Amino acid sequence: MIFVPIQEILQGDYENKTVAIRGWIYRKREGKRTIFLVVRDSTGIIQSTIKSESSAWKDAEKITIESSLIMEGLVKKDSRAPGGYEIAAEKLSIIGLAELFPITKGKHRAGSDAEEKSEMDSEEHLRRLRHLWLRSLDMNHVMKVRGDVLAFARDFFKSRGFTEVSPPMFISAAVEGGSTLFGLKYFDQNLYLTQSSQLYLEILIYSLERVYCIAPSFRAEKSRTIRHLTEYWHMEAEWPFADMNDLMRFEEELMAHVCQRAAEHCKRDFEGLHADISKVASVKAPFPKITYSEAIDRLNAKGSSVNWGDDLGYDDEKTLADAFGQPFFIYDYPTKIKAFYCKTHRQRPEIAMSADLLVPRIGEISTGGVREDDKEMLTRRINEMGLKEEDYDWYLDLRRYGTVPHVGFGMGLERLLTWMLDLGNIIDSIPFPRTTRVFYP
Ligand code: ATP
Ligand code: MN
Repeated sequence: MIFVPIQEILQGDYENKTVAIRGWIYRKREGKRTIFLVVRDSTGIIQSTIKSESSAWKDAEKITIESSLIMEGLVKKDSRAPGGYEIAAEKLSIIGLAELFPITKGKHRAGSDAEEKSEMDSEEHLRRLRHLWLRSLDMNHVMKVRGDVLAFARDFFKSRGFTEVSPPMFISAAVEGGSTLFGLKYFDQNLYLTQSSQLYLEILIYSLERVYCIAPSFRAEKSRTIRHLTEYWHMEAEWPFADMNDLMRFEEELMAHVCQRAAEHCKRDFEGLHADISKVASVKAPFPKITYSEAIDRLNAKGSSVNWGDDLGYDDEKTLADAFGQPFFIYDYPTKIKAFYCKTHRQRPEIAMSADLLVPRIGEISTGGVREDDKEMLTRRINEMGLKEEDYDWYLDLRRYGTVPHVGFGMGLERLLTWMLDLGNIIDSIPFPRTTRVFYP
């Protein structure tokens, strides 16, 4: 028996042919003489009918939501069926009969009415049952786009001559601020979970020049927002012999590439999620760019009391981003709110060569910049920030031996997806979210 993916049947190639499918029961409706079974596989859902005189009737009566099965039958065109095709089932075998599935209709059953949502589908309940909720059509769509976005990003990096590298997750010194650092016992040492792979990528540019990684970063974020996880996937890149313009150009081209490819290849998933595909289709480089000082002026003009030198909060970012209505950059931030490794303008040391990429509703999705390549300047910054020079000895070696101007950035995969797919919360962009309160299963 050759099994046909449901999506291929819905494309119409199998009309009036007998097919075999395998999957799970998505929905069931029983009439006196006909049972309607909607079957799902990884590619889609299709309705099937079983008539009372059929030998499959007994099993159709017995089968429950989320049971796994194999089915054979004749494909018919039927405009009343979701997707326009239906299978008149001739044979049905139950593989694994499911117990009463603890998620009822509601969100799991796309297209069902709001009234059908029960207590059993509360956010809290679905979070506890994440391992089962991942079978929902919504999560299926999100995970497909997530997989595709990773592939599109990798294609882009490869086309630009970047090598994918694998940095460590256990680290001995902080990259970003100490307040979001997760410490852990490592035998009899104290180590941390990495907040960013940047410093390790910087090591590797001396061998490979253009490097990137897509790896987890960990942040002990206590605040509950729609854009913070404690474990997220970080797309980071570093490369030498480049400046701020190269950096921003690369980032906007990466984002435009990913968005264009998603608009072409992920139509069904965007539709399934009711996400606005025209928004991603219209992402084209170059993006608007304003300096931090211009951002402050714009915010003040809108009545915000933010002062030059303040870090932009979520509300400020959102105000600016919503006005742009598309991805854009803010660059040239005050040095004092940027990390120790940020290079400063030599004539204006109060300004750091740093750029954030922002999108509407979410705010920041990436931070990048020019890295300090001068050993003396870097040492001074490490001391000014109250960090321990000896923790960064190997990092200073990179400036001792053949230092080179270089740039890099980090983009949060989940923030990108949350924006692309119009998700209400970042936790729905990753299969197993981790936040202060969510870590099961
Ligand atoms: P924020 O100020 O929004 O918390 P950040 O400036 O501390 O972010 P960076 O250190 O610049 O974050 O990290 C680079 C990118 O990683 C961010 O632009 C964002 O896309 C992503 N990121 C950072 N922290 C988180 C988090 N807790 N959850 C998900 N993504 C994150
Ligand atoms: Mn940042």
